[in-house]
Amino acid sequence: MPEGTPATAGLVEKDLKYVWHSMASYSSVSQPMIVTGGEGSWIVDSEGNRYLDAMSGLWCVNVGYGRKELADAAYEQMMNLAYYPLTQSHLPGIRLAEKLNEWLEGEYVIFFSNSGSEANEVAFKIARQYQQQIGQSGRFKFISRYRAYHGNSMGALSATGQAQRKYKYEPLSAGFLHVAPPDSYRRPAGQTVEQFNLLCAQAIEDTIVWEGVESVAGVIMEPVITGGGIIVPDRAYLDKVQEICNKHGVLLIIDEVICGFGRSGRKFGHQNFGMKPDIVTMAKGLTSGYLPLSATAVRKEIYDSFKDVSDEYGHLRHVNTFGGNPTSCALALRNLEVMERESLVDRARVLGERLEEGMRALSEHPLVGDIRGFGFLLGVELVADKETKEPASLDTVKTIIGQCKARGLIIGKNGDTVAGFNNVLTFSPPLSSTDEDLDFILSTFCEVMKLHL
Ligand code: PMP
Repeated sequence: MPEGTPATAGLVEKDLKYVWHSMASYSSVSQPMIVTGGEGSWIVDSEGNRYLDAMSGLWCVNVGYGRKELADAAYEQMMNLAYYPLTQSHLPGIRLAEKLNEWLEGEYVIFFSNSGSEANEVAFKIARQYQQQIGQSGRFKFISRYRAYHGNSMGALSATGQAQRKYKYEPLSAGFLHVAPPDSYRRPAGQTVEQFNLLCAQAIEDTIVWEGVESVAGVIMEPVITGGGIIVPDRAYLDKVQEICNKHGVLLIIDEVICGFGRSGRKFGHQNFGMKPDIVTMAKGLTSGYLPLSATAVRKEIYDSFKDVSDEYGHLRHVNTFGGNPTSCALALRNLEVMERESLVDRARVLGERLEEGMRALSEHPLVGDIRGFGFLLGVELVADKETKEPASLDTVKTIIGQCKARGLIIGKNGDTVAGFNNVLTFSPPLSSTDEDLDFILSTFCEVMKLHL
């Protein structure tokens, strides 16, 4: 791993002068961490500090840092054919699309883009156009959940259900509606988890009916809401969502941008629930973050409706320059090979169980309201009061994150600021994490939580 050196010290000033950071207020970037290297689950900064990155960057470095063979795959492809658009075709694109079909366990046609946001934009465009092509031209609306994140571009942001991300950018795209998520921890008293989940699913059907069935094109959701604070639905919820979409001719779009590629302990999150989505969007773990690439997988029957349409605008008139470039596709293929060879999907399931089990030691901690996991993805919801479930203050949450970082552990903070739920600590380490890495995460976090007794 490249060592950080004091010679990089002046970089902080340059960074503050020239780099516009995402999601940071100007005051909070006054001490940016300049990351200079990474190996396995660990990164090193310019001061030589090592950290276990229990967020895999932005939930994406599924195979861990420093994989030479991924760099080799990109190098070999670049030397052969670095770029050609998918307006025509190329071998890595064909092979990757075939491989994704295998992983999806279904018959899908793949449209490649560069980011998760774009993959969702493509899904919305395809869904609207498909509905028109089958004679349902009034269907343009999409339903998603509050607290979900679906991306930064105007359509994907419109589908997002977190007010703090939209504030100052509105009005956004028309036709995006939201319903409450199945946040079982905060369900009304007297309801069982199953009853509550069924009511949440029913809200989707009610919205479809009240809006006018013939006006709704699709429902978009992650199998588990991740960025909004790891909201894990009951199986009954997703069964009912599937049934509602089928019943009303509404396309079911599953956003696997975080849950995909082993994170859930299955290849894709929806496979845990036996779902049959019409469209699946994916990014992040597709390349483990080594290069930008995303995909919108579309059920073959939907794709077929785009063929042989007499209308001269009948084809999908969406193009992007870099999406599905051969280098990213070749790297993604190697990334999936690594996951298969090292059984990282199964490993995520096993490690996830161990992580959740280890965290249970904190169940009685006065700040710990809820611990919920989904594969190798864990949320710990912090509360000021276990009885009332009043969220812990942002100060407390930030202090704990800071204390973890001071001990070499990076964890995430998720939820929804505007709604006052910015209180879920998140853990999403590389699937390749070793047993020692896991022990480090658990022991460091438990040590920090002991400071708050
Ligand atoms: N969907 C989900 C569920 C996400 O978590 C994200 C990114 N965090 C996106 C879409 C957007 O992906 P990107 O940042 O690559 O545009």
